[in-house]
Amino acid sequence: MNTADTELTRMIRDAVPVYWSNPALTADPRNAEAVHAMEDAEERLRRFAPWIAARFPETQAGGGIIESPLTEIPAMGAALSAQWGIPVTGRVLLKRDDSLPVSGSVKARGGIYAVLKHTEELLSEAELLRRNEDYSKIAEDPARGFLAGKKLAVGSTGNLGLSIGIIGAALGYRTSVYISREARQWKKDLLRAKGVRVVESGEDYEAAVAQGRADSEADPDSFFIDDERSEDLFNGYSTAALRLKAQLTAANVSFDNEHPLCVYLPCGVGGGPGGITLGLKQIYGNAVRCYFVEPVQAPCMLLAMASGKGSAICCADLGLNGVTAADGLAVTRASELVFQRMKHVLDGCLSVKDEELFAYLRLLNSSEGIRIEPSACAGFRGIREIETHAVPHAAHLVWSTGGGMVPPSEMNAYLQA
Ligand SMILES: *Cc1c(COP(=O)(O)O)cnc(C)c1O
Repeated sequence: MNTADTELTRMIRDAVPVYWSNPALTADPRNAEAVHAMEDAEERLRRFAPWIAARFPETQAGGGIIESPLTEIPAMGAALSAQWGIPVTGRVLLKRDDSLPVSGSVKARGGIYAVLKHTEELLSEAELLRRNEDYSKIAEDPARGFLAGKKLAVGSTGNLGLSIGIIGAALGYRTSVYISREARQWKKDLLRAKGVRVVESGEDYEAAVAQGRADSEADPDSFFIDDERSEDLFNGYSTAALRLKAQLTAANVSFDNEHPLCVYLPCGVGGGPGGITLGLKQIYGNAVRCYFVEPVQAPCMLLAMASGKGSAICCADLGLNGVTAADGLAVTRASELVFQRMKHVLDGCLSVKDEELFAYLRLLNSSEGIRIEPSACAGFRGIREIETHAVPHAAHLVWSTGGGMVPPSEMNAYLQA
């Protein structure tokens, strides 16, 4: 895609849903460095598991590992087929990151991991923690008092702020969340109730991140979790692939290069879906096909990938305003770091209209009794495109990315929207 008026450019500009498949896909996406980064992150999370289990009792059954179930949703598959008037073939699976313990969204993977990695670095530098020790000791002095003198900062549309705010407060940090204009009021209220400083600029996500980054750089005690540039966030997300592998085996989901597992991931700045994609590709190669799904008004990764321009292009360049009810996906410029890692690895990008998200939200509730937030519904669009374009597949996996902490009144409003 270039700025010339191709059909794809016109569709994106007109906010029409598109399906783009990557012509630059590599035949072998595996590389040793990515495997190492994923395994290193997994080991770190295991070191912290005793502390997590003690601090967040809901993780005790899982031994302090923050993980969500994989469930089969045949009634939703049938309901979608009836609504679209096309067959939905193969098993339909839902990865329930909306129910991830601690913060109820996919951000409980990368966000929490990034804070734990920073914490390990700080404490080992200060000689307050050694790798072979029981990490539960960080709940007490001197580690606790040491962390209370340190600060964290993050820019967010809401869910990353919740994840960092909750884990930051639990560890004793003083945390600031620079929140963008679309953030829901209940998320700000919840953060303030935890003692987190919430900075409301009233601007978009990119501006909120920039302000948080600048303030944090001016303060030597502050560490900025950079959603646009952080390797740690990305690596934390990638560990999802190791967990999913065990779940797919347990559920007897079989697939191969000719009949792949198609995975649909809601995408904002790209870190969450990008980390998960890179992880899955290390394990399965192209027997797993990964697609990012974005709102028609904020398709930043679609633009980055289809144009090959990465973060040099943004939604405003095509006259799109970034306004969407999918608050978790309201990002208008993609992460350059994620773009570089996805260029030859991601199978495709799709976009979806807000009203379709609400239709999926209601249908998932009526067919399966599962309630998730609008952003988290984006993946269902993937099933429709793959079926329509007759892309070979063994099964569909929709990644449900958030909703577990949404208050009931807010959820009822979503169901009636
Ligand atoms: C943040 C978020 C995503 C996407 O993750 P990115 O790293 O921003 O691409 C998807 N769904 C929900 C609910 C989110 O909060």
